[in-house]
Amino acid sequence: MNSNLIKGWEVIIGLEVHAQIATKSKLFSSSPTEFGADPNNHVSFYDAAMPGMLPVLNTHAVDQAIKTGIAVNGKVNKISRFDRKNYFYPDLPSGYQITQMFFPIITGGYIDIILQDGRNKRLNIHHIHMEQDAGKSVHDMSPSNSFIDLNRAGIPLMEIVSEPDMRSSYEAVQYVKSLRNILRYIGACDCNMEKGNLRVDANISIHKPNTPFGNRAEIKNLNSTKFLGDALDYEIQRQILETESGRKIPQETRLYDTHTGETRTMRSKENADDYRYFPDPDLKPLILEQSRIDKIKSELPELPDAKKKRFINDYKLTEFDASILVEDKVVADYYERAVNASKTPNKSAKLIANWILGELFAFLNKENKNINELLFPIEYIAYLVDLIQDKTISGKIAKTVFAEMIETNNNPRDIVKKLGLEQIQDENVIRQAIEEVLTNNPKQLEQYKAGKTALFGFFVGQTMKALQGKGNPEIINSILREELSK
Ligand code: ADP
Ligand code: MG
Repeated sequence: MNSNLIKGWEVIIGLEVHAQIATKSKLFSSSPTEFGADPNNHVSFYDAAMPGMLPVLNTHAVDQAIKTGIAVNGKVNKISRFDRKNYFYPDLPSGYQITQMFFPIITGGYIDIILQDGRNKRLNIHHIHMEQDAGKSVHDMSPSNSFIDLNRAGIPLMEIVSEPDMRSSYEAVQYVKSLRNILRYIGACDCNMEKGNLRVDANISIHKPNTPFGNRAEIKNLNSTKFLGDALDYEIQRQILETESGRKIPQETRLYDTHTGETRTMRSKENADDYRYFPDPDLKPLILEQSRIDKIKSELPELPDAKKKRFINDYKLTEFDASILVEDKVVADYYERAVNASKTPNKSAKLIANWILGELFAFLNKENKNINELLFPIEYIAYLVDLIQDKTISGKIAKTVFAEMIETNNNPRDIVKKLGLEQIQDENVIRQAIEEVLTNNPKQLEQYKAGKTALFGFFVGQTMKALQGKGNPEIINSILREELSK
């Protein structure tokens, strides 16, 4: 662990991830959660905190939190409770946020990440609780007025609070990426960071190993993994500089300025705010039946880590290739569909992965497209690989076929037929071509016979050229060897 020390300082990071639960309606009302509506169009009397309105708990949102807890190996608490966190803010009409301060729905759990040196590291989760999001204050529509948009007020969130187990910005970024993959796999959160579906508060402090933790700064509302990494890197340097200059790091909340790349003080947290938490009298404790938990557990899809291990085992992929393929469930599913479409799935699995991660990803990147926007079925990649495997075409010709395929969206089998790209296997044709090459290059032949065996490649190249790139390389090699030894 000490390899992470920077000038003798150890970095301590703990993350609070706010994930918007993927539901159609809000946590305690039936207003839609859909993004992008006109301001204040998704606001019920309850969301606007009209007197006498009562909360009704969204059971689907609860199921999503249970699912998340199981997916990160946490304990689902059969009894949890909602508390009021009281504070005034213009975008919080009720004057309190409903959250789970004392009895969260999930306790414990962990996420495994891979470190730069390839080792695994387990990062523990302290708990996951459910809470409501607040509305939004809009300050940039008028020079003299601020506006309130309550569409977001009451949207269900999960707050996933980690233990302070991370020791570098890299570990923090990997944790968020893994968590995001898991949430997407199980469909508990869309994790669209640009839409604010996933926001991270990063707590960070430095200390000398084997001494108590230092005071932490909490950097609020980081909405991309890049900003998270950059903000932490800046903050690590700042805290080291401050401490080494003899100044104390106060416990405070900081903001990350994406334009300057700096963090700055937002508010001091020396005297923790008194939110006067108390159990919400309008909500009963949340009691979960074991059967409900079991049912959700039985419906859980295969998770990214398990899928990765299976890909490595079954398809003989490298850890690296498998990691990239499982990162996006859609890509993983496409990959498996292609493998299953091959005539020889076991033999082709590795090659199919190479084509998807290499040529296909390069094409998608260039076109700025997702894999599910392809205009040809993914099975075509398997057909292409099959054509290589059964020696109908060479790996080199396959590139030509691929280029034609992404251009025309045609089946590679038809492309090969139409363009006459089948590999030449006929030994007589190949032998004839070789004989011509040898008669046309007497000087090289003489040199070869005199011991310059490196010229073998030259003859292969000339023969291939004579056969318009379509000769079977293995047959060329063996006949050539035979002819040259005469
Ligand atoms: P609070 O009750 O003030 O919110 P918590 O103990 O709940 O504080 O911790 C909030 C987050 O801060 C957690 O993710 C935790 O891992 C992290 N954290 C706690 N202490 C430190 C520290 N000294 N340095 C970095 N992160 C910390
Ligand atoms: Mg906290």
